[in-house]
Amino acid sequence: MCALKLFNTMSGRKEVFRPLAPPRVSMFVCGPTVQSGMHLGHARTYIFFDALARYLGRLGYDVFYLMNITDIDEKISQAAKAAGEDPMEYSKRMTESLIADMGSLNIETVSKFEPVSPHVDEAIRETAVLLDKGLAYQADGWVFFDTAKFGRWGRLSHLTKNGLALRPLELVPAKKNLNDFALWRPEVLVDGLWTSPWGLGSPGWHIQDTAVTIPLLGAQYDIHGGAYELIYPHHEAEIAQAESLTGVRPFVVHWVHTNLVKTGGEKMSKSLGNAVTVKEAMKSLSAAEIRFFFLSIHYRKEAGLSGIGAARRRLRRMKEAARKVGASERDGSTLGAFGRALDDDFDTPKALKWAEATLKAASKVGDRDRARRMAAPAIAGMKTLGVDLLEGA
Ligand SMILES: [Zn+2]
Repeated sequence: MCALKLFNTMSGRKEVFRPLAPPRVSMFVCGPTVQSGMHLGHARTYIFFDALARYLGRLGYDVFYLMNITDIDEKISQAAKAAGEDPMEYSKRMTESLIADMGSLNIETVSKFEPVSPHVDEAIRETAVLLDKGLAYQADGWVFFDTAKFGRWGRLSHLTKNGLALRPLELVPAKKNLNDFALWRPEVLVDGLWTSPWGLGSPGWHIQDTAVTIPLLGAQYDIHGGAYELIYPHHEAEIAQAESLTGVRPFVVHWVHTNLVKTGGEKMSKSLGNAVTVKEAMKSLSAAEIRFFFLSIHYRKEAGLSGIGAARRRLRRMKEAARKVGASERDGSTLGAFGRALDDDFDTPKALKWAEATLKAASKVGDRDRARRMAAPAIAGMKTLGVDLLEGA
């Protein structure tokens, strides 16, 4: 059914995408922490997974795309305090703003946005099970996962023992191993919340994901996505938790990660203070321009923002050519070389170049029907990725 190959971070190579129970595809992508507005670094990741979900739909799959929203976090509590707001009120407002930003970017494929806060009980239950199994331990009000007891620790990030030793997590003296990560933290983020068998506190960041996915997607699912920076320790920790809890492996069949957005040679991030928010960007750029720009760079390559102007001009010329040719009567055409480029590890830059050349050539053909037939796969392909070249035509 499917010729789509995607790079799998776990194996380190391109693999044919084979869902567990076709035509259903279950996809989970880590959503942002809502301490501040969505920026272009986030936008790149979510535009990519939206385009991928659209393409899977076009291939005939029934995609269930789940995105969690981290609405409990130290940074959120700090930002709420600075704004003089209740943390849960603040995160509710920011979550609504985030979903609105997704909408304005035409990110339409997410089946369910799931805030983490209603799943704290499940995170506590999962932590208790890991303690029962002897895979976690308590120390000074914390509960840590004992990474020495999980043989596959480090597999996803391809880190050696020495590499792992250089990347210690959570510097709490009572820990057994440097890489042990917190399942429960003795930190009160919201007054009076949350009560656990280990005292008041909050769930660790990584267990928040398995608390959402195990009940909603089960012990195993098809695609887990996110930004590169989440591979270690976040996704590594999710594997350790989920596979230890359910005994089912692999927990995720296909791991897909998007590379960074850089600005002035640095990673775009809220903490570095160089983030361009989606709301700011959309004052001068359309959703189609932002989408076209990010899709003009392969998802596994770093993106710098310097190419935005060139991407805008390319899109404008493609729209002009598409309007000149006009829509084909026989839409729903096959995608041809456009689809073959997407099938090869979602090579959107190649697909876009092909569409651009095809439209340019079609716009020079005198016979209108022939021109339309020529242009149809390019227009249909772009539409599949969420860029409607005939919009407003
Ligand atoms: Zn996550």
